[in-house]
Amino acid sequence: MNCKGVVREISNYIDGELDAATKQEIERHLGHCDDCAMVVNQTKMTVDIFCDDQPVELPKDVRERLHEALRRKMQRSKS
Ligand SMILES: [Zn+2]
Repeated sequence: MNCKGVVREISNYIDGELDAATKQEIERHLGHCDDCAMVVNQTKMTVDIFCDDQPVELPKDVRERLHEALRRKMQRSKS
């Protein structure tokens, strides 16, 4: 699992929609990649605002904007 893989799976990871093996790979990556750990933390905070301790699903357009922002962020940090 590389940074791109983590970003691709990030919303599934936070939603808990991943199988155990993929989840484990992401967590292993987060253990040694500060960039991705930070992105996951920020995304979790963003999701928490929408969830507000209730299991509210992130609206699709918000989720897509989030994905786009994360993709851009990762591309910038790699260049
Ligand atoms: Zn990474």
